[in-house]
Amino acid sequence: MRDKRKTHSLFWVLDDTKTAMGSRILKNWLLRPLLNCAKINHRLNAVASFKGDNIARDNVREVLCYISDLERAISRIVMGSANPRDLVKMRESIKWLPRLKKELEFFDAPLIKEISDFDELYDIYDILVRGIVEDPPLAMRDGKIIQKGYNEELDRLRVIRDKGTGAMAEVENAERERTGIKNLKVKYNKVFGYYIEISNMYKDRVPDDYIRKQTITTGERYITQRLKEIEDEVLGAAEKIAALEYKLFGEIRDILASQVDRIQRTARCVATVDALCALAEVAYKNNYTYPVVDMSDSIEISGGRHPVVEKVLRGSLFVPNDTSINTSDRRLTILTGPNMAGKSTYMRQAALIIIMAQIGSFVPCDSCKIGVVDKVFTRVGASDDLAAGQSTFMVEMSEVAGILKNATGKSLLILDEIGRGTSTYDGLSIAWAVLEYCAQKIKAKTLFATHYHELTALEGKMDGVVNNSIAVKKRNDDIIFLRKIVQGGADESYGIEVAKLAGVPDKITKRAKEILEGIESEGTQIRVISNGRRIQKDASAQIGFDAFAGNEIVEELKKIDPNVLTPIEALGKLFELSKKAKEGV
Ligand code: ATP
Repeated sequence: MRDKRKTHSLFWVLDDTKTAMGSRILKNWLLRPLLNCAKINHRLNAVASFKGDNIARDNVREVLCYISDLERAISRIVMGSANPRDLVKMRESIKWLPRLKKELEFFDAPLIKEISDFDELYDIYDILVRGIVEDPPLAMRDGKIIQKGYNEELDRLRVIRDKGTGAMAEVENAERERTGIKNLKVKYNKVFGYYIEISNMYKDRVPDDYIRKQTITTGERYITQRLKEIEDEVLGAAEKIAALEYKLFGEIRDILASQVDRIQRTARCVATVDALCALAEVAYKNNYTYPVVDMSDSIEISGGRHPVVEKVLRGSLFVPNDTSINTSDRRLTILTGPNMAGKSTYMRQAALIIIMAQIGSFVPCDSCKIGVVDKVFTRVGASDDLAAGQSTFMVEMSEVAGILKNATGKSLLILDEIGRGTSTYDGLSIAWAVLEYCAQKIKAKTLFATHYHELTALEGKMDGVVNNSIAVKKRNDDIIFLRKIVQGGADESYGIEVAKLAGVPDKITKRAKEILEGIESEGTQIRVISNGRRIQKDASAQIGFDAFAGNEIVEELKKIDPNVLTPIEALGKLFELSKKAKEGV
């Protein structure tokens, strides 16, 4: 979101394509993962085939380097904006298609067989070779676009034009000889056409048949009958050539435009080959494994890694973790652990692995089995949209609302610290209610990271809810992040230790510790301002009757034995107590 170059994104990791078309198709796959298990396996099978032979894959990728963006070129052709160089690029690309087909013969996955059966566009290549010169100029009005031999009339006109240019040189030589003027020159400008220029020094040697056209400071300009004749021929031919070349180029462009479907289909095959090869290359370089993808309701990842974080960490080792989610006994995992422990990373890695598997990519883990999910919802990070009039909390809640409305039992939900944008008790209550709704109503596979440790009490009480946490080691005042997921909930958040690590001054963290200890030892009486109301909260949450010891009404209640009261006596007693309560006894 923040970086225009898209570094540190999943696409950044996966996009090892050689062509712009391949890169585009890969992005499309990523934006629209597949839901059809057979199609996913079809693609995976092709990636596996490419991954299985490094040398043959390298050969394919080398050929791809020579193929330019056929899709973009064809759209320029159809729009009529393609220039001669676009057509040359297309010709150079088409030239490599037979070779690409040959290199693809080494792979026998059905999808590769299917896409390598592309149209090699021989006829189009033939027109481009016969029609367009080797290295045409960018602009069309300059001519020099159409190949010799493509059109008879054009060839004839070119002979005339070239003869004319030679004839001018002949005239120049002949006139120099006739007049004895050594610096006589035949020149050209747009106003007079061809003319002979004689400097003032030789004015007296000018023959009578010269017709004076213009006087300039350094001399005079003349034309002759012969010069005029040649000029008419040459200029006429040059003009006709420009018009004819333009027309012929337009015709070639129209022929190509009429074949747009064929070219598009071939381009798509090449792009698919490129995208599949890129996935194979990335899988090979990053040591990814083949995911087992089925229509089951469970996700089992063993030794999973975050594809982007592991790449960024480079030298230091990423700690792999397992993930096990299903729609029965492990529906919702409550993930607790200190700040910085790796909760977000762990949850996102599960989502990324699933998305990767569903686009047909190998995945960063030791092994995995992925039951296809219909949607992946995430509520992560705090991003406000002040310009659109939304606060951080408002954005968080609208996203939660969207998720709760749209998620199904086959979806994957990544919920990171729901409720943190508001006061502790409001946040906890919202988190709790959302968690209940996900686990019991939607029954979606959910990973739920939170710092509200109270929620861990739901394990065993609510169907399908399990606690996981991320292990850390505490040494004196410091913590060591082990980055390992373990069963059970975490006990502390170690927020103050992490604040210290982040460089918050000692004075502040020490004071924070004192305040924390104070709050913990009192164990009670945290004043919370919620919705404008001041509420006195008791940590034990349950208010016992003892708190009201000595109160007359309570004392009287204690004396009553409901078993011996008749209904009418009970009603009378209730009236009496209610009256006393209202009088404020
Ligand atoms: P908070 O509760 O403060 O949001 P968190 O528990 O969500 O923190 P992350 O943001 O996931 O923590 O991780 C913090 C950093 O730890 C990451 O930027 C990453 O560099 C590193 N990290 C996370 N997981 C691993 C891992 N498995 N192996 C190595 N490094 C990791």
